[in-house]
Amino acid sequence: MINLLETATKAKPRHPEKAHRPDTEVLRKPDWIRVKAPGSAVYKETQKIVKENGLVTVCEEAGCPNIGECWSKKHATMMIMGDTCTRACAFCNVKTGKPLHLDRDEPLHVATAVAKLGLNHVVITSVDRDDLDDGGAQHFAEVIFAIREQSPNTTIEVLTPDFLRKEKALEVVVNAKPDVFNHNLETIASNYLTVRPGARYFHSIRLLQQVKEIDPNMFTKSGIMVGLGEERNQVLQLMDDLRTADVDFITIGQYLQPTRKHHAIIKFVTPDEFDSYKTAAYSKGFLMVSSSPLTRSSHHAGEDFAELRAARAAKLLNNNVLAV
Ligand code: SF4
Repeated sequence: MINLLETATKAKPRHPEKAHRPDTEVLRKPDWIRVKAPGSAVYKETQKIVKENGLVTVCEEAGCPNIGECWSKKHATMMIMGDTCTRACAFCNVKTGKPLHLDRDEPLHVATAVAKLGLNHVVITSVDRDDLDDGGAQHFAEVIFAIREQSPNTTIEVLTPDFLRKEKALEVVVNAKPDVFNHNLETIASNYLTVRPGARYFHSIRLLQQVKEIDPNMFTKSGIMVGLGEERNQVLQLMDDLRTADVDFITIGQYLQPTRKHHAIIKFVTPDEFDSYKTAAYSKGFLMVSSSPLTRSSHHAGEDFAELRAARAAKLLNNNVLAV
């Protein structure tokens, strides 16, 4: 029986496209990468609500180091459209392969979980669904509508795929009026072929720019991981590219390697270097910057959204004063 189970597990690796790769070296984590252990009563309650509603979370699927902290505050990031991704990024722990059909009841289940958790702000993300004609855009919109119906005061942040070659998909999501549109660049342009091979850097920049063209009031956000072999000046160039697309908020965090088959950690970026990136990003005009080793695009998303709104209001006020 054990042999049968072992055979079944071996026959279905979580990342078949990575199975043949040589193991990469795993670096010892420095002292500044320390996380809260999961297991508090609120953590368990969050886990129960997620399970009862049959939801998938990126917190679990990506093996996020912040899960102990976030779930203890009932902050879970829902991953819609299944647990299987059609891309095969070198950094990502989400299962890859052929996904199942969309679950038409998922919008209702997500909305019910959001209401039960009593969230002020929710982040909804998804796997890439290159197999669907619209990349899953309509499903994103239905999840937004369902949450609005049950929890009209909850602010909604979407963290979307790039909808590459999915014409009109972006309009469908933006017109559903999330409060924040987030799409992660993940890394600098010259890393794309090795780190994010199915994506195109300038397509992602253009996607973020188009959000503002469709709805100039929508907040936009993008994140990257560092420690993947990038140079500082390449990160500064990426910031300029995001500002050209009028992106409001940038998140910068340390890349952590999910398994030995994933991209190696080239460097642990120090807290001082993260602070320096933060200073540079603010000087380039971002309204909001989160830059620290454990920053993730959905980490502290609710508190950050409140600050982001306040920063825009202050900027508008300042502009009006200067115009008088
Ligand atoms: S940072 Fe985001 S993905 Fe990680 S545990 Fe928190 S909510 Fe989940």
